[in-house]
Amino acid sequence: MKTEIFKATAGNHNLKDYEKTYENFDWKEIEKYFSWSETGKVNMAYECIDKHVEDGYGDKVALLYKDASRNESYTFKEMMENSNKAANVLVKEAGVKKGDRVFIFMPRSPELYFALLGTLKIGAIVGPLFEAFMEKAVKDRLENSEASVIITTNSLLGRIPQSELPHLQHIVVIDDNVEDKYIDFKNHFKDASTEFDVEWLTRDDGLILHYTSGSTGQPKGVLHVQNAMIQHYISGHYVLDLKEDDVYWCTADPGWVTGTSYGIFAPWLNRATNVIAGGRFSPEGWYGILEQFKVTVWYSAPTAFRMLMGAGDELVEKYDLSHLRHILSVGEPLNPEVVKWGDKVFNLRIHDTWWMTETGAHMIVNIPDMDIKSGSMGKPLPGVQAAIVDDLGNELPPNRMGNLAMKAGWPSMMKTIWNNEPKYQSYFLPGDWYISGDSAYMDEDGYFWFQGRVDDVIMTAGERVGPFEVESKLVEHPAVQEAGVIGKPDPVRGEIIKAFIALRDGYKESDELKEEIRVFVKEGLAAHAAPREIEFKDKLPKTRSGKIMRRVLKAWELDLPTGDLSTMED
Ligand code: ATP
Ligand code: MG
Repeated sequence: MKTEIFKATAGNHNLKDYEKTYENFDWKEIEKYFSWSETGKVNMAYECIDKHVEDGYGDKVALLYKDASRNESYTFKEMMENSNKAANVLVKEAGVKKGDRVFIFMPRSPELYFALLGTLKIGAIVGPLFEAFMEKAVKDRLENSEASVIITTNSLLGRIPQSELPHLQHIVVIDDNVEDKYIDFKNHFKDASTEFDVEWLTRDDGLILHYTSGSTGQPKGVLHVQNAMIQHYISGHYVLDLKEDDVYWCTADPGWVTGTSYGIFAPWLNRATNVIAGGRFSPEGWYGILEQFKVTVWYSAPTAFRMLMGAGDELVEKYDLSHLRHILSVGEPLNPEVVKWGDKVFNLRIHDTWWMTETGAHMIVNIPDMDIKSGSMGKPLPGVQAAIVDDLGNELPPNRMGNLAMKAGWPSMMKTIWNNEPKYQSYFLPGDWYISGDSAYMDEDGYFWFQGRVDDVIMTAGERVGPFEVESKLVEHPAVQEAGVIGKPDPVRGEIIKAFIALRDGYKESDELKEEIRVFVKEGLAAHAAPREIEFKDKLPKTRSGKIMRRVLKAWELDLPTGDLSTMED
């Protein structure tokens, strides 16, 4: 596919500095930013909030919150006091102590963030759960983590099977009209002390337990420790390019790792003003938030960009987005067509970032000082050593497809898979390579190109085809809103390419359209990459975080069991 180059813009550092940093990079230098690297006393919530108050930034706005009924603003000092109050409630009423797993299962609200930071101040491990999880998903995660406390709302209580969870000791409800058998958060919160002695931890103490998105199978409980903050901080600085006056909005829910690493930790470690929006996605609502809060840095996902793209370019023009200066994407491959659209409607490049729950923070990125090759994930973050390796851990030369891998030892690397050490071990190959499960290649310039999940790569008539390339071509066609591509076993070709397509509004399914789309891929990409079968769907199966679930498409197609569907959208 033809690659378009989008020229670099100036970020925090010029390109020369960046390259210098990359070659001589030493994580130890970054650690020096944190006094705990000498004292040994660390606490993420302190570094995110209290430290800035001590440094004289107490009156700076930390949180701008908006949903259908609330529109609020909190300074760093208010965040400090409110998280102290929450910590006091959790200690006094629910007996929370260091190392306990405290789950948070509720819609976004300022109180969610007070409770999450309060939990961290106690030294407990926070387990965020997306509000849309149903009973089975909630039960699996509470059971696996042996959580002792869950913080929730009245409307979600019904999905917590208390009698089947022997470790669960307390349920804290953040709501009005709380039943006596539960801890009434708001009632205790209003009288709680604004002072709290933060629990000092070591860099190896637990921070957060995140369950993965469930795109490829049963979600894994990924444990991260305090040390991760080194990478959260520096990627916030280099990649999010956060500066003193930025208003930053990350659209991810804290139930997913992006919503904590980059919705809480990175922005606040960098002392940015953080926008949190409650409620669901709508193009008007989202553009409205960008306009109202004068957002300068915006971090979202391909699925959202594709939906905004589908809503039309005229809509964007109705809003004043003149403050926006930097846009980033994560979670799924970023189609070149989307980058082109961003360049057109925002006059800004969309910067792709690749990382995963297990890596804890950015790994492959587009720093503002880099030229963007549309369709590429970018280059490794300074300090990260990435390579393409074969199944034995041997490095492959440029332009060869293989396992996307990193040398173990970056600061935000997961500590373990909770309760499953063998699973944790299975991520590594000889040579200390961490294997991502994604397939990619690296070009001569050191840019990495995502091809698909290793299991999704298609072998057709002797050619290896990454589903992403085909999907990206498909969404270039004006009729195609989204596409999911799988390999379907075929006696002659090994596999054939089958595409599931959701059409844009205004387009009707027809055999002519199928043929037109097929020819479009054949002529625009390659004959062997053109889907032999196309099926139209009203919508594609996706995780609640917006990722296309190709394993579900495949299971439907081949009449196989679909596996764990706990994270699938309704
Ligand atoms: P599970 O591990 O439960 O199957 P998941 O892998 O989707 O789910 P996450 O950790 O949320 O869970 O997502 C990480 C994955 O998302 C990566 O392995 C990769 O496949 C995909 N991904 C993330 N960012 C990008 C990107 N910029 N380009 C391509 N793929 C990406
Ligand atoms: Mg994964």
